[in-house]
Amino acid sequence: MKVGFIGLGNMGGPMAANLAAAGHTVTGFDLAAPCPEGVTAATSGAEAASGADVVITMLPNGAILRAVAAEIHPAMAAGAVHLDCSTVDVDSARAVADAAQTAGLSAVDAPVSGGVGGAAGGTLTFMAGGSEEAFAKVSPLFDVMGQKAVHCGDAGAGQAAKICNNMILGITMIGTCEAFALADKLGLDRQKMFDVVSTSSGYSWSMNAYCPAPGVGPNSPADNGYQPGFAADLMLKDLRLSQQAAEAVDADTPMGQAATALYERFVEAEDGAGKDFSAMLPRFEKRGRG
Ligand code: NAD
Repeated sequence: MKVGFIGLGNMGGPMAANLAAAGHTVTGFDLAAPCPEGVTAATSGAEAASGADVVITMLPNGAILRAVAAEIHPAMAAGAVHLDCSTVDVDSARAVADAAQTAGLSAVDAPVSGGVGGAAGGTLTFMAGGSEEAFAKVSPLFDVMGQKAVHCGDAGAGQAAKICNNMILGITMIGTCEAFALADKLGLDRQKMFDVVSTSSGYSWSMNAYCPAPGVGPNSPADNGYQPGFAADLMLKDLRLSQQAAEAVDADTPMGQAATALYERFVEAEDGAGKDFSAMLPRFEKRGRG
């Protein structure tokens, strides 16, 4: 396939490289990041998009996505698909899908789970929103960049699934960290705590696969000085998107709200910026109830 790829950062760079390595013709553009091996550099987003069957965007936020969409849609060939893999607000995903339709194109919103490791290894999970036809057209690209793609529904459904998943993740990570800190103070050995909880009803991905306690459970960022991994800053971004969405549809999400406030404090007023999101555990260790 002829693929345009806009946004070649930590995630987009390796995703574009994997598509090129699999034999697709990839033309890329980024304002700052270099073009990975096998990808032809364009001098603008419109140039990267022109003549492509599918144009992928992997950008920081919804405002940038909307601006890039306005630039590239007029340059795209009739019937081409705009596949956005960024994590953005549901409204931006739907606005971009509407704009694509007006321009005679189709759109798929397909945010990812799996982080930089998944992007490099081609093992991402995609959660996609858009028509059956557009989903089918981009599926061969999902097969290269990831190990699983779930078609969640119409435009915006991929972003909805992503922010709901990550709201759960933020909440369970905080719960896991505060439970470890409580267990410490109760004199419970961390390994015993893991052995019990990981096979009992308190288990979760945060405990079992990404344990925030160093030296316990499978290897995780806790074993590497809390280097991300999945940065607390990105968790805060996703939690904020969940709260923006909850506000828009009048959904009651008290735990999501509390998790957002806690990560906000951790990243903006404490020492959480640049650390993995599981570094909530040393944060709780230092504190009492006051
Ligand atoms: P990044 O900041 O490394 O990459 C974004 C790139 O977009 C940058 O290289 C930037 O120069 C480029 N860019 C910005 N505006 C542009 C424009 N107008 N035209 C062309 N390029 C432009 O970010 P990332 O970590 O690659 O994340 C990308 C998206 O993936 C985000 O929405 C993020 O939330 C999501 N995501 C990231 C991770 C992760 O672990 N990093 C995991 C899942 C999802």
